[in-house]
Amino acid sequence: MSDGVLKNRFRHHLVIMVTVSCGHCQGEAVLRLDYANLDLCGRCFSRLFERRVARANREFKMVRPGDVVAVGVSGGKDSAALLYVLHKMSKKGRFTVKPVLVDEGIAGYRDVATKKAEELCQRLGLELAIVSYQELAGRPLDDIMKLRDERQLGFTSCGVCGVLRKDCLNQAARKVGASKLAVGHNADDVAQTFLMNALRADVKGFERFGVVSGLGGQEKFVQRVKPLVYNLEKECALYCVVNDLPFHLGECPYSVEAFRGQVKDFLNAVEQRHPGSKFNVLQSFLALKSKLPAVVETQKKAGTCTVCGEHSSSAVCRKCVLLESLA
Ligand code: SF4
Ligand code: ZN
Repeated sequence: MSDGVLKNRFRHHLVIMVTVSCGHCQGEAVLRLDYANLDLCGRCFSRLFERRVARANREFKMVRPGDVVAVGVSGGKDSAALLYVLHKMSKKGRFTVKPVLVDEGIAGYRDVATKKAEELCQRLGLELAIVSYQELAGRPLDDIMKLRDERQLGFTSCGVCGVLRKDCLNQAARKVGASKLAVGHNADDVAQTFLMNALRADVKGFERFGVVSGLGGQEKFVQRVKPLVYNLEKECALYCVVNDLPFHLGECPYSVEAFRGQVKDFLNAVEQRHPGSKFNVLQSFLALKSKLPAVVETQKKAGTCTVCGEHSSSAVCRKCVLLESLA
C-alpha cells in the first residue's frame, strides 16, 4: 500500500498541521493525542511508543537478556509494530527475535496479510516460521466454519479461532526454541477483553487473562507476554505509518460475528467523548489483577491434556474438545 493511501486512511489522526509544533521538540507536529492534549512529530511519537514498550517490559518482567522471543505476527498493524520495536530493542536488550505466523486458512484474507508479514520480515532480515490450522486441526478455518453451519454446532468463528491460534502459536514458539512468546495485544484489546469478561460474568476468563500468562519454566507452555499493553490500537497503526512499515488493513471476513466488535465500537464511542477512558479501563483491570494472587496458584496446577499432551488446565484441552466435535 502506498504512503498516499495509508495517510489518506489515517487522515483523522495524521493531519499535517503545518502551524502546530511538536509538544516535545518544537518540530512540526504530524499527529495529535487527544487524551494527553499533545501534538507530536513522528520522531517524538515513535520514541514515546517505544518508551511505553520498554516500560511494560520492565514493569511486568517480560523479556530478559538471553531470551529467545517468538513474536506472533499476522501481517496486521499491531504485530508489525510489535516486531519492529522488539527487533529494535533486541540488540541493546541482548535477546533474539523470531517471528512466527499462524495461517488460519481464510481465503482472500490470510494470503494477502501473509505477504505483508513476509515483506516486513525480509526487510528486517528475519526468517518467518509459519504454522497452520491445516497442520494442527487437519482443516483450514473456512472448512471448519462450513462444518459448523452444516452440523449447527454452537461455536463462533472467533471462539474456535482463538482456541486454535493459542495452541498453534504455542507450538510454533516451541518449534523455534523460544523462551517467550510476544503477542500484539494492545491497550484496546486488553480493555475490550476485560469488559467482555465483565459482560459475560466470566470470572474464570478474568482470572486466566493477563499481560503475562503462565509462570515460565513449564515444559509445554511458552510464557506469553503483551509488550504493547500501554499503546492504543490507533497508535500501533500510526507507529507503522510513521516508520513506513508494511501492514495489511483488511479485516477478517468472520470478524462481523464477533462480540468483541460490539465492545470495541462501544469503547471507541466512549473514548471519543471522554478521551483517556480506554487507559482508565486498562488501569482498572491491572489494579484488580494485582490483587489476585490466587490466579498464580490456578496456573501452577495446570497440567497436560490427556489426548494431545499439550498444556491444559483440564483433563482434555479446549482444542481437543473442539476437534472431537468436528470429527
Ligand atoms: Fe480468527 Fe475471529 Fe480474528 Fe478472524 S476475526 S482471524 S475468525 S479471531
Ligand atoms: Zn488436547
